[in-house]
Formats: sequence, C-alpha cells, structure tokens
Amino acid sequence: DGSGKGAAMVTAVAQRLALQSHLVLQPFCLSVHQLRTISDLLMKDLIKGLGKHSHHKAAVKMLPTFVRSTPDGTEHGDFLALDLGGTNFRVLHVRVLEEEKVVDILGSQTCSISQDIMLGTGEQLFDHIAACLADFISSQNLKEQTLPLGFTFSFPCEQKKIDESILIRWTKGFNCSGVEGRDIVQLLKEAVQRRGDFTIGSVAMVNDTVGTMMSCGYRDQSCEIGLIIGTGTNACYMEEMRNVKRVEGEDGRMCINTEWGGFGDDGTLENIITDIDRTIDQTSIKPGVHIFEKMISGMYLGELVRLLLVKLTEQKLLFKGQRSTTLLTAGTFPTKFISEIEEPLSGLENAKRILSSLNVPYDFVDARIVRLVCDTVSSRSARLCAAALATVANRIRVNRGLKHLKTTVGVDGTVYKKHPNFSDELQAMVRLLAPDCDVTFILSQDGSGKGAAMVTAVAQRLALQSHL
Ligand code: BGC
Ligand code: MG
Repeated sequence: DGSGKGAAMVTAVAQRLALQSHLVLQPFCLSVHQLRTISDLLMKDLIKGLGKHSHHKAAVKMLPTFVRSTPDGTEHGDFLALDLGGTNFRVLHVRVLEEEKVVDILGSQTCSISQDIMLGTGEQLFDHIAACLADFISSQNLKEQTLPLGFTFSFPCEQKKIDESILIRWTKGFNCSGVEGRDIVQLLKEAVQRRGDFTIGSVAMVNDTVGTMMSCGYRDQSCEIGLIIGTGTNACYMEEMRNVKRVEGEDGRMCINTEWGGFGDDGTLENIITDIDRTIDQTSIKPGVHIFEKMISGMYLGELVRLLLVKLTEQKLLFKGQRSTTLLTAGTFPTKFISEIEEPLSGLENAKRILSSLNVPYDFVDARIVRLVCDTVSSRSARLCAAALATVANRIRVNRGLKHLKTTVGVDGTVYKKHPNFSDELQAMVRLLAPDCDVTFILSQDGSGKGAAMVTAVAQRLALQSHL
C-alpha cells in the first residue's frame, strides 16, 4: 500500500521535526520581509563604500576596477591569461576575434595549488605561478613573443590603475604570508625576473566577477553585472563615474567590484546570524571577516549542513541520537553532497549512500530530514544572493533615473552551476525583490580566462583610441 506508507512517512517526518526543529532550522528560513531589510541595509553599505570619506570604514569595499568600458565588439588580438582564486591555477593562451565576435582558447594548462602553497609564503606562491607560466609558454612555443597578460586574481584588491593591484586580504582558504598590502603585479614580475627565462608584456589585473561580466559582454552588450557563487561569492557592476568619488572624473561609468562577501563584517547582519554561522566564522582561517560570504558560498555550505546535522543529532532528532566520528569531523560533508542530496530523482538514494559513508545509523525519516536540512541551507544562500543582486540591479536602475531597467548578469561558480535548483530559486527571488528590473542571466563559459583577455583587449583599444 504505497500511498498509505507514504502518508505515514510524511507524518513521521513531520512529527519528529515538529518537536524542536523549528528552533534549529527556523533561524535559517528568511522571510521576504527579512530579505527586503537585508537589501535596504546593503544599499546603504554600497553608498558608504563609494563615498570619499566613508569608504575606509565600509564593510562592503566597492573597489574601483579601472575598467571603464564593456567590450564594443571591435577588440582583437592574442593574450595570455592567468586565473588564480580557487584550488587551481590556470594559464591560458587566448585569441579575441573581431569578425566572429568570439574568444578562442588556443591552449591552456592547469596547475594545482597545494594546501602547503595556499598557506605558505608569498614567494613560494609566486615562484609556483611563474614556473607554471614558464612551462606553458615553452609548451606553446610562445617564448619569442611578449604577449599582454590579463591576470584574474579573485581576491579583494585596491587598484590605483589597471596594472597595480594591492591585496587587501586573502579569502577562501588562502593565507600566504607577506602578500597582503603588496602589489600583485610587482610580486608576479619579481618572480618572473627571478627565473629570467622569459618575459611578460603589459599586465591587466582583473577580479573574477569583472572577467565574468566582460566575457559575457562580448556576446551581450547589456551585460553590466558580473556574479560569482562558487568557492566564494561576489559581484561587480557598472557604476556612474560621478558616484565613484574616489576616482577623478564625472563622465561615463566604471566597473565597481563590490566585494559583497564582506557585508556584515561591521555587525550589520547580527539579526540574522545564527549560532552555527558564528561557529563557521570562528573556526575559519580568517575569523571576523567575509561574514556574508560565509553564509552563502561553496567553501562553507557543506560545513553549515554538517554542523546542523550534529546539532539535530545531539537533540536526538536524527540517527537515534548517535553521532559518528566521521560526522563530528570538520570537512567531511563537502558542498557537492548538498547538490547530490537535493537532486529531484536520485536525491534520497544519494542521501542514503552519503549517510552510510558518514557511518551514521539512519532510517528513511533521517534521510528525508537530511534532505530538508540541505534544502534549508542552500535556499538561504540563494535568497541572500538574490537580495544582494536585487540591490545592485535597483542601484543601476535608480542611477539611470529609470522606472524600468532591462539588464543582463553574467554568472559563474559551482554553486550556481551545479546545484539542482539554486539558479531557479535565485532568479525567482530577484524577480520578487526587484520587480522593476528585468534581469537576464547568462552563464559564463570560462569567464575568468576569456574575461581577463577581454579586459586586456579593451584596455588596449582605449589606449589606442586615446592616441588617435
Ligand atoms: C573574493 C572576491 C571574489 C569572490 C569569488 C571572494 O572571496 O573576495 O574577490 O570575487 O571570492 O571568487
Ligand atoms: Mg568620480
């Protein structure tokens, strides 16, 4: 009797959850009203970050990128692109073709970045980068050329110009000594000089959000927001120069790297932060910073779920109250488990396989509750991101004095791309929170590599134009 059993199951899940789970999961369920409040708070912070006298104490840094123009489709040429920001480092040889309006990857190479390097010295990191670059250049027979280089460096940097970029702080598990406060271009050039076996041309420094926006901008010229929801989270957008008080000039626009991951670092989000978020923050490599990112991005979502499972088990709402050593060990529930467990068809089977691997005694009700926990955590992430993105879209709309804005967002990141319903939930919530903005989402393919080349190409085009 399938339907009878089904009904009994629903009742069993509901009963067990009704007991106490509202205390555990409820703080993670953000209402539309709460999201609107969050959006209002972020709008204030965007303005604070842009201000000449308020930016130095702003949690949301609103960094000028010196990218003043999105691609106009006339860019072309060959470039090297570097991409550092996740667990891998990539080098690419990229060709921008004007006639076809495409960006081709002629070759690429991935070098892994070990935990040792992520937590070692800056010199080790840049020597490693230069070694990968040397390898690639010789394998591609590029030794005789000196190509311009776009460097996608996905960390918050204070830029004074396109080829000077000072690291404010490491995020996402990186913590190399002697790099914060230093110019990344300088450190790269020094490492290349230490080797002495090749040279590099002009360098353009690019955040991954900017690369993503620019790579989509070649296809769709209304793309003026770049969004990343992967290991970390962040967005950039085209702001009016007159509002960018820290950079000379009133005309035109400049891309601003919001670094919204730092939202909440001054306590603004106190009302929605849970005890589990506090644990995540305190046990992270950099406690106290990038609070918003720690509620949203792939580096932390799995761990949030694991901590919730431990808590529910302690309250005897899961696994008959029995915790395994595996479940109690940090990092044993990677974020990809969330996607697997929320898969519409295979999710419950995946949940069982995963729970077996965690050595916990589970029954069918447990598997369903675990799925509910995953859904709670990933939905909160999608909703928070939606609130932030709605804020940025509204900002652009108001900037331009429009009643209605049509705009495009270029998106990248594993959470957005791999989770079964994250993107749907995010998009639906943006429609609700920014009803006057008609936002189109396009997936970036290889945004970091291609986008870095685009930025370099646009910089070249503008340099040429200003010579004419
Ligand atoms: C960094 C941003 C980056 C984002 C996505 C964050 O941790 O601070 O610069 O854009 O991750 O990679
Ligand atoms: Mg200005």
